[in-house]
Amino acid sequence: MNIRSERVQSLPPYIFSRINKRKKELQQEGMDMIDLGIGAPDFPTPEFIIDELIKEAKNPSNHRYSPYGGCQEFREAVAEFYQKRYGVTLDPDKEVLTLIGSKEGIANLISAVLNPSDTVMVPDPGYPVYESAIHLAGGKSLYLPLDASNYFQPNFELIPDEHYQSIKLMLLNYPNNPTAGTCELNTFKKAVSLAKQHDFVIAQDAAYDLMTFEDYRAPSLLQVNGAKDVGVEFGSLSKSFNMTGWRIGYVVGNQDLIDALATVKSNTDTSQFLPIQKAGAKALRSDLQAVHENNAIYEERLNHVISALDDMGIKVQKPRGTFYVWAEVPEGFTSMGFSEELMEKTGVIVTPGNVFGTSGEGYFRISLSHPKDRLLEAVRRMNELLMEV
Ligand SMILES: *Cc1c(COP(=O)(O)O)cnc(C)c1O
Repeated sequence: MNIRSERVQSLPPYIFSRINKRKKELQQEGMDMIDLGIGAPDFPTPEFIIDELIKEAKNPSNHRYSPYGGCQEFREAVAEFYQKRYGVTLDPDKEVLTLIGSKEGIANLISAVLNPSDTVMVPDPGYPVYESAIHLAGGKSLYLPLDASNYFQPNFELIPDEHYQSIKLMLLNYPNNPTAGTCELNTFKKAVSLAKQHDFVIAQDAAYDLMTFEDYRAPSLLQVNGAKDVGVEFGSLSKSFNMTGWRIGYVVGNQDLIDALATVKSNTDTSQFLPIQKAGAKALRSDLQAVHENNAIYEERLNHVISALDDMGIKVQKPRGTFYVWAEVPEGFTSMGFSEELMEKTGVIVTPGNVFGTSGEGYFRISLSHPKDRLLEAVRRMNELLMEV
């Protein structure tokens, strides 16, 4: 008997676990590894958030179950954040839901919405969780290719109407992982209008909403008139507040979608530890100074990395957000071939673009989650490898 369900058996192999295994082996052989594959900030969580956690953790009334949808304080803080940042008004009781990290929410929304064989349109390349969650829910994916020449925004016009007609859900992700692409409100406007025309719903993943550079500000899907009729937006404190391990995020927007998700969740989890939600509320209500300071550091790293890559002939258009660099692999390499050779010969780990989908072939992703010197050392080793071949 195979104790794994067919859906679990047929999940594509998680390539990060293979890379990690090899990384450990090489480390044991004494190689100095620089892992630019990890999509997590290298900074600690800001002190004021930790202080709030400690304070709330000492209050016994916080040791009980949270309400299913999350505590009032966190949901109100999310609504205030949307009002202040985007000018979007939300009802904290009906249009906001606490998540145990947005990954959980995205996967559970997919299973809350899909019937077997229903189709979802996913960005290509895209965050691998989308495809696995669709697969686990018994659904099918259709691809929304991102256009490299246009900040990796989709060309909605190039997709045939039958595709829009056949989907139940469209996933969007701006600022984008892995391409570091960003969009303007107009992209969301087009998506909302297509959703209304062809009767599907939208989930926009805003995990990098606050990670932007210079005067670029990422728009919210909900800034589009009527977006709440068809869509939700997922938010996360993981990347912007260096809180990946805390597991705190939220979803906002369409009541019916949030209700469907809340139904799945109330049957499978009981929300997040109250002190974590309260510390998260403190973060969202802050002046975002901590976020801006991190962004300035990421941008400095980015400028150095882009210019070093440029010196070795790898051209990258400077992104306006996220902490990723999405670059074309050098001539003569596949994504996988390049990242394997780089890891084996130099100890530098990058993520091969093809793990994010077919359109990712020919690219690799660097995460800027290391100090500048280590990043430049990694690019130097990359250059050395290219001189060799
Ligand atoms: C990191 C990431 C998430 C998940 O964030 P959590 O809130 O930590 O679960 C979601 N979407 C994208 C695109 C990400 O890169």
